Amino acid sequence: MVVGLQSPAQANFWFIQGRVLFLIIPILGTALFAYIVARRLMPLIRAQRDLRFDRPLIRLERVLKFWLGQWKHPRYRFAGTIHILIFAGFILLATRAFTLLTQGASPSFVMPGLSGEAGHVYGIITDYAATIVFLCMIVAAIRRIVFKPARYAVPARYGKGHPIDAIFLLALIAILMVADSLFLGSKAVADAQQGQSVEFLAVLSLPWALKSLLLSSSMATLQGLYLGAFLTHELTFFFLLCYRPFGIQFHVETPLFTIYFAKLDREILKPVRWGVPDEGLDQVKSFGVKSFEDFTWKHMLDFYSCADCGRCSDNCPSNAVGRPLSPRFLSIKARDYAFQHYPVFSRSRNGNSKPLIGSIYSEDEVWSCTTCGACEEECPLLVEYIDKMVDLRRGLIDDGNVPQSLQKPLKALESRGNPYGKMEKKRAEWAKTADFQQVCHVKTLDKSNGAETLYFVDSITSYDERMQSIGRATAKILDHIGENFGILGSAEKDSGHEVRRFGEEMLFIALRDHNVDAIKTLGVKRIVTADPHAYNALKHDYKDVPPVEHISQVIAREVKAGKIRFNPVEKDLVYTYHDPCYLGRHNQIYDDPRDVLDAIPGLKRVEMSRCRDRSFCCGGGGLMLFYEPKEDQRMGVKRVQMAAEAGANVIVTACPFCMANIEDAIKVAGMEGKMTAIDLAELVDKQVARE
Ligand code: SF4
Ligand code: SF4
Repeated sequence: MVVGLQSPAQANFWFIQGRVLFLIIPILGTALFAYIVARRLMPLIRAQRDLRFDRPLIRLERVLKFWLGQWKHPRYRFAGTIHILIFAGFILLATRAFTLLTQGASPSFVMPGLSGEAGHVYGIITDYAATIVFLCMIVAAIRRIVFKPARYAVPARYGKGHPIDAIFLLALIAILMVADSLFLGSKAVADAQQGQSVEFLAVLSLPWALKSLLLSSSMATLQGLYLGAFLTHELTFFFLLCYRPFGIQFHVETPLFTIYFAKLDREILKPVRWGVPDEGLDQVKSFGVKSFEDFTWKHMLDFYSCADCGRCSDNCPSNAVGRPLSPRFLSIKARDYAFQHYPVFSRSRNGNSKPLIGSIYSEDEVWSCTTCGACEEECPLLVEYIDKMVDLRRGLIDDGNVPQSLQKPLKALESRGNPYGKMEKKRAEWAKTADFQQVCHVKTLDKSNGAETLYFVDSITSYDERMQSIGRATAKILDHIGENFGILGSAEKDSGHEVRRFGEEMLFIALRDHNVDAIKTLGVKRIVTADPHAYNALKHDYKDVPPVEHISQVIAREVKAGKIRFNPVEKDLVYTYHDPCYLGRHNQIYDDPRDVLDAIPGLKRVEMSRCRDRSFCCGGGGLMLFYEPKEDQRMGVKRVQMAAEAGANVIVTACPFCMANIEDAIKVAGMEGKMTAIDLAELVDKQVARE
């Protein structure tokens, strides 16, 4: 008869004493893991600099929010809840796993602080944690095998999916939970049979269920299960640890660091080279990313951390309209490249510096991005895409690979300061129409003719006949509220916002420096613009210019102060507001335009399913007005359909680029007469109650 259970440390496994075996397995497992991780870090060591060591407290706060607090996961309610449960389970079980592993060599080990009553409470909590994690594994496996959410699918052009890998990982975790629970359950039954005090197992938990199943088992069976469960737990734990850096499951370890080092000023574009000032760019031999090693170490860490959850691509407008771009695969392909070219167990191919374009990425893929930021907004791990896109474009531009359709606008920007190639002296002609001049006079500022406020118009509003109406409406609003304002006229050049996102850094610098010099000579106290792209450039890309506001902010403030009142709108129209990416996602201006609309008497407003930080790009960002992408459908058409589905017949936006795309899309979708578009400034100018 067996008296009490023999502990794993006392038992012999294949003639090796447990105490020795369970010392060797953790040492070997940890050493192997350390070696694998060191190998995985090799490309990061060879990568470009990235200065991410500032503001540690803010970074820690973000770790607490986005890693520990899983802040973004509930954006996908079901999958997010499962993830939070698994994550919380892992965190709770970490101490129990460590205790169990240590008890292999030292059976009496108890985690400090977890003896006595505290240990019992912790035991109950972790019994439930193991149960929840186990059940979540089953649910996740059913989702992968049976329901297969569309965002997990791998389109043929991106290779094959790896559902078996995913199932294998889920199975390993499930085995870990069962082994842990069986260890406790078999011990509890044996202790009860021997008349010893029995550790309380949480009712209806997995250990409790296994205990109930084993109640009539013999001591010999219980002994076998007890030791088998311990050995299985030990081996599975270290196998999992060392297996994870070989695939998507590496994201279990890396996100803590990815989130800690995540970009704090998301709206500021990455410099060409960290630590190289603009004046030193002439000395930089190669711009942007051409080979894998041109990525920064943080961007490589992003590749390792991507969980392949598909949320970024699910929200990417380029992906939605069939352009050859899916941000998820931008990461997955780069991660596969790193694994292939920096193998763990061979040094033969390390760092072969192949050009990325043509091997893992295509030119169309890189040009298809509108820099809308939807992917970054959605990613629960704060993986960055826009900087990578811009860096890849910088590399292409540096090698002279400019898409045909963009060559002309770029040349025009260089020679004339606008993408249309129009004369500088015609820049202010929008303000010179006879009708307009009867109601509003816009002065052109210079050293001798000053004003408090500069209205920065930018190219599209200055030269595009349709958008000039937005310029006139903006000027009339500023005039109505008594603003002492003026424009730069022919001294203004394009803000360079799109040029920079297109990857033409030197041209951007030339445009920026010209505008900054021109603005500085005026001595204005603030800048107003109706163009979110200009707003973003002036606010984040320019330095040493006065504070800038978008016209929607100015109007909202004046409405609140009672300086702007409105006449009622026609009652039978239903309005919806389209958030421009560079006003909403990039600058968090969501409420001001809505507040203005809601202040107009009789205006009925509905929200589209994708609004605010999930707004769907119109397709205009990053010089996209001039680029002819390969796509199944225009983004604007999709957006107009969303407005119609919401029951709207007027789309209000606050960006000339959005206006160009949306009006065009209304025609393409055959919805003329059923749907119209209007800029917020135009609507305000139309409805404002003038004395
Ligand atoms: S980048 Fe982020 S959102 Fe996209 S698949 Fe990876 S983890 Fe998911
Ligand atoms: S920035 Fe927008 S278009 Fe570009 S990859 Fe992200 S979601 Fe897609």
